Amino acid sequence: MQVKNLYKSFGKLQVLKGISTTINKGEVISIIGPSGSGKSTFLRCLNLLEAPTSGEIWMNHEEITNPKTDILKVRQNVGMVFQHFHLFPHMTVLENVTYAPITVKGLTKEEAETKGYELLKSVGLSEKANEYPNRLSGGQKQRVAIARALAMSPDVMLFDEPTSALDPEMVKEVLEVMKSLAHTGMTMAIVTHEMGFAREVADRVLFLDDGKLVEDANPNEFFQSPKSTRAKEFLEKVL
Ligand code: ADP
Ligand code: MG
Repeated sequence: MQVKNLYKSFGKLQVLKGISTTINKGEVISIIGPSGSGKSTFLRCLNLLEAPTSGEIWMNHEEITNPKTDILKVRQNVGMVFQHFHLFPHMTVLENVTYAPITVKGLTKEEAETKGYELLKSVGLSEKANEYPNRLSGGQKQRVAIARALAMSPDVMLFDEPTSALDPEMVKEVLEVMKSLAHTGMTMAIVTHEMGFAREVADRVLFLDDGKLVEDANPNEFFQSPKSTRAKEFLEKVL
């Protein structure tokens, strides 16, 4: 995935101010930065949940920001996991995971369920297949959300603060699932405040400040010796 000179404004508010980077296949990218710096907006532009004001995003040699692009098709290929899970409350866990593959991808119920059970097993939730979301803990809900996104066999997975809404004791189980996903070679972009995870699991760290990509660095280099004053100040506050 290539991002070229991406700008995004909401009315007069310029939120992204010329971001360029490449996310290579199989890479895990952590996106960090102060609140309001544009992290969520950046992630949402990557799957066109927000329409960039200008700039280009390329995926698999196709410019997805081209007006002729089929946005729904792009989104099928880019899984997204949100801070607040966004599960379908009236569907069981298994139905949450099989709904899009059946309705959007045209899988048969059997095919979708076979794959659904496999995915639920991979996130440690086989036994919850027939539960409704309101009977699950936050950590379990987020693992369902991850399985649901994976059920579409996306090329890229985006995570927007996936552990920020969780009680502390549930953060680890979600990070573990994300870590094993990273080890399968999935391409991942993760907005996170979990600095340990960013350092350990990510191949690169993007530090955003005030809508600009201030650092695009190797995690060890970034955490040991950030180049910018802004990153230094940020790390002093969060570490
Ligand atoms: P972060 O995720 O880094 O905290 P966001 O991308 O959510 O930052 O927000 C960056 C800025 O854009 C903030 O000032 C926020 O209020 C503004 N913003 C985000 N989404 C919208 C929107 N849909 N309409 C107007 N302003 C928005
Ligand atoms: Mg955000």
